[in-house]
Amino acid sequence: MKQIYWIGLLLLVVCSGLWAQTPLEKGLRTINRRSAEATVRFLSDDELQGREAGEHGSRVSAAYIASLLRWIGAQPLGESYFQPFEAYSKERQRKGRWEVHPDSVAKLRMEVHRKLSMRNVLGMIPGRNPKEYVIIGAHFDHLGTDSSLDGDCIYNGADDNASGVSAVLQIARAFVASGQQPERTVIFAFWDGEEKGLLGSRYFVQSCSYLSSIKGYLNFDMIGRNNKPDHPQHVVYFYTASHPAFGEWLKQDIEKYGLRLEPDYRAWENPVGGSDNGPFARVGIPIIWYHTDGHPDYHLPTDHADRLNWDKVVDITRASFLSMWRMANGKEY
Ligand SMILES: [Zn+2]
Repeated sequence: MKQIYWIGLLLLVVCSGLWAQTPLEKGLRTINRRSAEATVRFLSDDELQGREAGEHGSRVSAAYIASLLRWIGAQPLGESYFQPFEAYSKERQRKGRWEVHPDSVAKLRMEVHRKLSMRNVLGMIPGRNPKEYVIIGAHFDHLGTDSSLDGDCIYNGADDNASGVSAVLQIARAFVASGQQPERTVIFAFWDGEEKGLLGSRYFVQSCSYLSSIKGYLNFDMIGRNNKPDHPQHVVYFYTASHPAFGEWLKQDIEKYGLRLEPDYRAWENPVGGSDNGPFARVGIPIIWYHTDGHPDYHLPTDHADRLNWDKVVDITRASFLSMWRMANGKEY
């Protein structure tokens, strides 16, 4: 009889522990290595042929990401999860940038030109205040293949940037799993055409009708490598200098949740360079950008999934879910 009493008491304690979990904690516990590996290993498989923008592998990647957003329960941002767009450039021997801006496009179309069709993938969770937005994003395209390379000719792009895509997907799931509607609408963005000149994020920003309502953008571009073998927890953390709260958040969360990260905090006046944070920073939107630095396999066919530091991918994903939670729900920052 006494035994039953103790078992009952134990169950009660365990259950009340589960019940006591906050929405934030419920979301946080869904983030795991297995899910990160599933996404990175699929996207960086040879069958995806290096996910070059406008090519078959990139289109398959977009379909895969949209399918997972649907599974997770994030809604499409527009009528579907896809935001199609086109880029134009000069005939290839004349060497020019790919352009998405209507003025440049109009000029290019007057002569012999090239055209590339791409699509961003955009999901969202509507906020209680539908007039304010926060965005978290990563590019999914990479460099494709080069059949003239002697040996491995597929640029798999496991770190660049399947790692970032896995983080955005896990954070979307964590927001849904929290069971709590965010204060602001949270947009989950997967950019196409980054390697050809930030085309997807540039197109999004130039065609967005509510830029002044976007309160922050968090970007991932490569979060899975150890460039410094003796500092496996090293991560570069760029953020808009006029928002010191972004730095404070990470410091507090690392401490509170025991995250195994040693960030190099880099407050940046005008963070327009490097990746998809650029187009957002250019129009005055505060940004955060996680990046684990260049490494010997950067932009080479050897950027393979088995070289990733999964613990780091997972802890950066956790840290950024915590930051996004504050960005989505905090009154001021
Ligand atoms: Zn990249």
